[in-house]
Amino acid sequence: MSNHEDRIISGTKRQEDQAAELSLRPKWLSDYIGQDKVKEQLSIFIDAARHRRDALDHCLLYGPPGLGKTTLAGIIANEMGVNMRITSGPAIERPGDLASILTNLGQDDVLFIDEIHRINRTVEEVLYPAMEDFALDIIIGKGPTARSVRLDLNRFTLIGATTRAGLLTSPLRDRFGVMLNLELYDIESLTTIIRRSAQIFGVGIDSEGAKEIAKRSRGTPRIANRLLKRVRDYAQVMHGTDIDVNIAKSALKLFEIDHLGLDQVDRKILLALIESFRGQPVGLDTLAAATGEEKGTLEDVYEPYLLQIGFISRTPRGRQAMPNAYEHMGIPYEQNEQERFI
Ligand code: ADP
Repeated sequence: MSNHEDRIISGTKRQEDQAAELSLRPKWLSDYIGQDKVKEQLSIFIDAARHRRDALDHCLLYGPPGLGKTTLAGIIANEMGVNMRITSGPAIERPGDLASILTNLGQDDVLFIDEIHRINRTVEEVLYPAMEDFALDIIIGKGPTARSVRLDLNRFTLIGATTRAGLLTSPLRDRFGVMLNLELYDIESLTTIIRRSAQIFGVGIDSEGAKEIAKRSRGTPRIANRLLKRVRDYAQVMHGTDIDVNIAKSALKLFEIDHLGLDQVDRKILLALIESFRGQPVGLDTLAAATGEEKGTLEDVYEPYLLQIGFISRTPRGRQAMPNAYEHMGIPYEQNEQERFI
């Protein structure tokens, strides 16, 4: 099984991203590029909460990795003028861990829980009264003399992030007042993000060069920034100049990223759909077994982009390769053959 986190074009965060992300992360809603629907809604909710001198409602941010969920949580805290505490679902092992985080939050602070769908059940139950009543129910004593004591917490805003809203249990999902879906970015937004990042890195890039990198970034700012860093290194070593479209193209060719940002795993998925399954709709489990990739990885990392560029479609009977995918793979699309099997 290949580890998708090793790939240059994986949206999942890697060690090398950490330092750069700190400086690249926009701090205010006005610096946050794209996602206009999300920004518009958020700015209304933030204004309203500030006006009422209230904490913002609990928010659930969902969408593929690398689209800016953590960034947005930080922006919300900044705009609300409060502190943010960052943790993640798997990091909170016991109810006591969560209780100690919650009791240490200041008035109206933001608690950001990444991968909130991976929180365990006993911890999740502590979250319910905390989210609803800003209270902790603590059991004192054991056996028949045990009693529950309610402890008041400061009012706070929980911001949960997940790759898919459907991964949350419904009682948890129901406790979020705001649900925001982050979508893959269009080329124009990614181009702007790349130009902004280049400015922060202090490297020159023209708009065609930025667009070339944007086209191969799978709609994902984290990938765009990572590709920019690689192209910058290439430009520096090979040419000692700024980045233009030709330098971007030859660098990306060297890194084996094709003009749509697809790599060997995407090609493996498309080949399986086209050849092994002869264009038929295929269930996710079967596709995972055929490609040797994890089902969750297929769904969170690969599928959103292949769907976005119209290479696959999701039918009630499974995933199916579309004519564009055949063309890209250089395989003739025989509609009749597909129809014969349906
Ligand atoms: P997620 O939490 O969804 O995995 P992050 O918030 O960590 O994603 O974002 C990854 C990187 O992409 C950040 O370092 C940030 O620099 C960049 N980024 C994400 N969204 C935007 C945006 N809308 N505008 C500019 N940069 C962005």
